[in-house]
Amino acid sequence: VTSLKDRPVALFGLGGSGLATARALIAGGARVTAWDDSPASVAKAAEEGIPTGDLRALDWSDIAALVLAPGVPLTHPEPHWSVGLARGAGVEVIGDIELFCRERRLATRRPPLAAITGTNGKSTTTALLAHLMKVGGRDVQIGGNFGPAILGLEPPKPGRVYVIECSSYQVDLAPGLDPSVGILLNLSPDHIDRHGTMEHYAEVKERLVAGVEAGGTAVIGVDDDWSRAIADRAEAAGKHVVRLSVREKLDDGIWLDGDTLVVAEKGATVFTLPLAGIGSLRGAHNAQNAAAAFAAARALGLAPEVIAAGIRSFPGLAHRMEQVRTIGDVLFVNDSKATNADAAERALTSFDDIFWIAGGKPKEGGIVPLKPYFPRVRKAYLIGVAAEDFAATLGDAMPHEMSGTLDAAVASAARDAAASGLAHPVVLLSPACASFDQFRNFEVRGDAFRDLVNALPAG
Ligand code: ADP
Repeated sequence: VTSLKDRPVALFGLGGSGLATARALIAGGARVTAWDDSPASVAKAAEEGIPTGDLRALDWSDIAALVLAPGVPLTHPEPHWSVGLARGAGVEVIGDIELFCRERRLATRRPPLAAITGTNGKSTTTALLAHLMKVGGRDVQIGGNFGPAILGLEPPKPGRVYVIECSSYQVDLAPGLDPSVGILLNLSPDHIDRHGTMEHYAEVKERLVAGVEAGGTAVIGVDDDWSRAIADRAEAAGKHVVRLSVREKLDDGIWLDGDTLVVAEKGATVFTLPLAGIGSLRGAHNAQNAAAAFAAARALGLAPEVIAAGIRSFPGLAHRMEQVRTIGDVLFVNDSKATNADAAERALTSFDDIFWIAGGKPKEGGIVPLKPYFPRVRKAYLIGVAAEDFAATLGDAMPHEMSGTLDAAVASAARDAAASGLAHPVVLLSPACASFDQFRNFEVRGDAFRDLVNALPAG
């Protein structure tokens, strides 16, 4: 990236994406000083020739920008003081997506950029949209919060499109984010610890659609009040807005009628897409993701029939209601990515007769918001730090056992589900918790579940 050519730049965070950012800056001629609070990461960067140094020793009056790698929380002590130094000296604090957007603006032919955000559904929608573009014959680079770091992707060329998942943190560090298509799926109070208040969180997310470039499209789910207000403001500001709803009929936009997506324009139905039987996109929440990807792919030039075929052939994502295996009548579903109650709710609404494995490192509010779905659960298997607290919430509402570990939970749930005599029992890992008490991350937790299930005897 050349926008900081010959300028002194401070960079904090030398994990995978920080390294990709450092390399891109250096290749573009910036004079980088990079740092991380992990000595091993600093040593690794230094080994490949990236200049490293304690950012506190820099002359901040001379620095052009502080670049923070994604995943470095602003509250983390080291970036906290470097951010303090930067702000004190009037130095801008940005991330890799901002650098990508500046580069894109410098290009003679801007490559199409779809940016996706929202509280839930980002990865599914990102993967689905990338899949659709591939089916439509485009060369797709997918990255950001999902997949490789944006500055580690292949450079633009004709026919290439970029599909980028953005966390609110990344949007926060990209004041000039101006995608061709900006997608805001939904907003609910998660991650507000990082952003202070819901107002600020919504404000950050709004920037992704408010920033859509001239001639571009803002795709916005309007099923929550926050997103609906954002759609209204974007439209009032002259943006082309495509609204999505899985709750109500829309005269203009894409809405869900039973299990069919309906594309409406000025009150007339212009296209319908039945979603029934598409295993990788079960549930109303996935209809929202499919609607968003449909609208974005349309805006990027694909024909509705091509998009419909692509939606039908989408293989789905690991760890998101991933259908791992069926043994006899029992279906095993890995929804390890459901790290909060809101995400787990989607899985609980998608199945009946659930044998539910839940727990881990608890989030604020625990599973209290899930009470309405307890009648769908035959029994709960509680693991991790949250087990006691979840057991207290369940009380007499449903049978539950303190399994403690995932191994024990899978063994008991598989046995109980098989013996239940129910027509379609589902053993569901949808923990409503972070994984860090027992696993490195949700992927490792989901992989462990998949391995345990695959090791169960057939029938
Ligand atoms: P993200 O990348 O935003 O975390 P994912 O696509 O990985 O979202 O899905 C994470 C979890 O959220 C899954 O467990 C899924 O059940 C749930 N989910 C997916 N899409 C939506 C949606 N549109 N609305 C609400 N919840 C969703």
